[in-house]
Amino acid sequence: MDILDVFFPKSCTICKRKGEYLCDKCKKLFKRNLPECYLCRRISSNYKTHDTCKKGNSLNYVFVAWKYDSFSSNIIKKYKYKSVYTVSDVLVEFLIESLSNSSFKDIMKDSLITNVPISSVRLHDRGFNQTEEFAKEIAKFLNLRYSGDLIMRKVEFGHQSLRDKEERKENLEKEFYIKKKIDLEKEKSITIVDDVLTTGATLEAIVDTIRESYNTDIDINAICMFRGRPYYSIN
Ligand SMILES: [Zn+2]
Ligand SMILES: [Zn+2]
Repeated sequence: MDILDVFFPKSCTICKRKGEYLCDKCKKLFKRNLPECYLCRRISSNYKTHDTCKKGNSLNYVFVAWKYDSFSSNIIKKYKYKSVYTVSDVLVEFLIESLSNSSFKDIMKDSLITNVPISSVRLHDRGFNQTEEFAKEIAKFLNLRYSGDLIMRKVEFGHQSLRDKEERKENLEKEFYIKKKIDLEKEKSITIVDDVLTTGATLEAIVDTIRESYNTDIDINAICMFRGRPYYSIN
């Protein structure tokens, strides 16, 4: 028995039921996202982006663990609270479990793990970057190398959704930069960790920056926790 269990008996972070930090009943509330191509959102084995869908700045493989809905949006709001055992600890454990049970774990073999960076201003406001913690945990658990220096972010340009598509793209291109090049020669692929995936524009801006600065066509993949319904209709 863990010493913490004596002072803080385990209970479900979500429903407070005694026993586990995430009970089986609450686990079922997370709706699994099927392996799909993140661009056309049709089924694709191993979460591979279809060659026919791909453009220059597209990611190669994108794993999304669960569907984004009212349940998961509540979870996300909660994951910043600090306690003995936080929602974020529960989430990262469950995310690692989902990854380990999926075909994506073979794609991640020997991959260099990083996360979507936040600017120093936002980091100062929040005190921590949640996705950085997730990325480190995933790397630790899967025995992969983590790098927090691969890519930097200057500033977040506020409510992207309120801007038109072109302006949004332009802003995103200006957001990321490489401070000091790291050696990518020996790397097999790069995996970027993010929490909620929408269009993928932020991740693609990172791909752009890496491909351009390093002049490389290394596979760049992503692990995201949640993604909502398609934002456009699928024929
Ligand atoms: Zn529960
Ligand atoms: Zn596709």
